[in-house]
Amino acid sequence: MSVILLFIDGVGLGEEADYNPWYTVPTPRLEGILGGSSLVRRAAGSPAPHVTLLAADACLGVEGIPQSATGQATIFTGRNAPAAMGTHQSGLPFRRLREWVERDNLYHHFSSRGLTAAFANSYTPEYFERPKTRRGWISVSTAAAKSGEGKLLTLEDLLTGRAVYHDLTRRTLAKMRPEVKEIQPEEAARHLLGLARQHDLTVHEYFLSDLAGHRRDHELIEWVIRTYDRFLGAVLDGKKEEDTVILVSDHGNSEDFRVRTHTQNTVPLLLLGRGAETVGRYQKEWDLTCVAPLLLQVAEACSRVKWKGE
Ligand SMILES: [Zn+2]
Repeated sequence: MSVILLFIDGVGLGEEADYNPWYTVPTPRLEGILGGSSLVRRAAGSPAPHVTLLAADACLGVEGIPQSATGQATIFTGRNAPAAMGTHQSGLPFRRLREWVERDNLYHHFSSRGLTAAFANSYTPEYFERPKTRRGWISVSTAAAKSGEGKLLTLEDLLTGRAVYHDLTRRTLAKMRPEVKEIQPEEAARHLLGLARQHDLTVHEYFLSDLAGHRRDHELIEWVIRTYDRFLGAVLDGKKEEDTVILVSDHGNSEDFRVRTHTQNTVPLLLLGRGAETVGRYQKEWDLTCVAPLLLQVAEACSRVKWKGE
């Protein structure tokens, strides 16, 4: 049994409109999952057994447009970060938010229950050599992963198939390091599933979707969507029946190419696998604080089933 959290930055549930690349770019795997629909607001529901698409609120009762630092902090802790900080905060977290994340997050939730959790993204040697600044050059997801019992995965882990690059295919890494070859999204999925076999929870973070939205870069978003669709499809093809995949975003952005900013749209909370079956029947309102408890709930339910079966 394994739970896989796919965090994808800057993807809201938008309209079926020509300004929404998640509607206009073909996504055969997502459409297969969602009963023929693209990843849009109208698709929310349970289109098939073991598939639930929830529309999660990312505004969290705090005025303004949701931002990455507090959105991700909420996903990784299960607590309302913009409310705690008094505002939505963007980019890399300032010290107060970073320490707030480090104190308690999903990696702690898992290890305190005897479950293991891994962050699948790999870091380059340059990352480890970066000078420490006031902000510490550290994202919320990195701060959370570092505070747990696991370690940050390295370039060596990546090149031996034991980690996944942030862009999945290593395209951006290959531009900086000619010795690195681009791989197919399906191969990245195999590497992720390899990690998932060894851990109760495996997390991957993807952020080019948010970047493409800010730049309104049509070429990049098309590549992002096609690549991610193939990756997600391959994860589902290769996962074990009892595994659950949970995909979530921190705020909208790339679903509305009319603007360069984030949006206030709800975000997808897509549950794939047995863990998706009962969830949603008990709760009507979903927001980013629901993700961390949900991961634990699914993992504990699955581990109990495994224990009974042994
Ligand atoms: Zn952004």
